[in-house]
Amino acid sequence: MSYLKNFPNQEGYFGEFGGAFLPPELEPHFEEINQAYLTLGRSADFLNELKYIRKHYQGRPTPVYYAHNLSREIGAHIYMKREDLNHSGAHKLNHCMAEALLAKHMGKTKLIAETGAGQHGVALATAAAYFGMECEIHMGEIDIAKEAPNVTRMKLLGANVVPVSFGGRSLKEAVDSAFQSYVPQADTALFAIGSVVGPHPFPMMVRNFQSVVGYESREQFLEMVGELPDQVGACVGGGSNAMGMFAGFIDDENVTLNGVEPLGKGTKLGEHSATMTYGKPGMIHGFKCMLLSDEEGNPAPVHSIASGLDYPGVGPEHSHLKMEGKVNYHGVTDKETLDAFYKLSSKEGIIPALESSHAVAWAMKHGQENPGSTILINLSGRGDKDIDYVTENFGFGENL
Ligand SMILES: *Cc1c(COP(=O)(O)O)cnc(C)c1O
Repeated sequence: MSYLKNFPNQEGYFGEFGGAFLPPELEPHFEEINQAYLTLGRSADFLNELKYIRKHYQGRPTPVYYAHNLSREIGAHIYMKREDLNHSGAHKLNHCMAEALLAKHMGKTKLIAETGAGQHGVALATAAAYFGMECEIHMGEIDIAKEAPNVTRMKLLGANVVPVSFGGRSLKEAVDSAFQSYVPQADTALFAIGSVVGPHPFPMMVRNFQSVVGYESREQFLEMVGELPDQVGACVGGGSNAMGMFAGFIDDENVTLNGVEPLGKGTKLGEHSATMTYGKPGMIHGFKCMLLSDEEGNPAPVHSIASGLDYPGVGPEHSHLKMEGKVNYHGVTDKETLDAFYKLSSKEGIIPALESSHAVAWAMKHGQENPGSTILINLSGRGDKDIDYVTENFGFGENL
């Protein structure tokens, strides 16, 4: 596994992207997390406990499934890694359980994070409940009103949801609020980032915690099919489910890797969240990456039908892999995403998250253009959270 060992470098750079641009009061805390990860996080005790949790609590390994009905209709072979069957319904718990375990090994008693739509907050609150830790989730008041079921879940799981009432009252302010709260508590709390984004060491750490998805998939696929897939794909918001999947195949020269990002409802700034297609290098939340920005270089407003994908930045490693030409990045519109959502539900009996539906839409398109090809995608999560929104706004897919 040569690639993963070489990236990032010791300062947390993937080529020109990554790094850690922190206010001075946070620097020692991120260095503490980095050192803890490099020592405790690689100890036999840590790895054995994580293995136990994955098997007995999360229900891993999740299956790889051959979507036989969809494949017949498309004319290509489409396989799915079923992260929707991971406990709590998405891949996010993979890194949240590991971050919480690291916190425990560091002697911390509390987890702090921000959340946008609430998915990261729910996964982290789940991990906190398992370990008997306190959990503090900062969330904008606008998001609290929009995502009521996730707020209820977090509270049931025992988390303290802190409403953020300044500025735009959404994700950006939630990040600021969570950092402010973390600084005076850093001796007893761990700040837990929810994707392969943020300052070093998080992009590296979260990728490595998610790599279980790719390693399992490679082994399962070989066992099922006898050879590797031609194409591997995953949706990209911050990029954690995609990096986890890619980690299993990145040294396989004959496997093409594909990231799928939201083209949303149009090509103008504000109508999409297609960072790789329309972005340029910039800085957000303490690291360098491809960024959708306005004329002053500030993060731009973004849109996607999938709230887990509407981030103006992207993981530094994806930014690097795009520059190196090691991964292809494709855009899929809201409309194509909805078609895929209805199709997978009615053809295979699997209701996918709108985020994951982007990967399904890409696989359908690629399969139609390349008959007979073999495609493996990461089905990052289940769509229960999306069914009310989809059916109230778009019906039951009767126009397909
Ligand atoms: C949060 C989320 C994503 C996007 O996050 P990544 O870090 O890009 O993986 C994708 N799918 C689901 C189901 C999610 O909850």
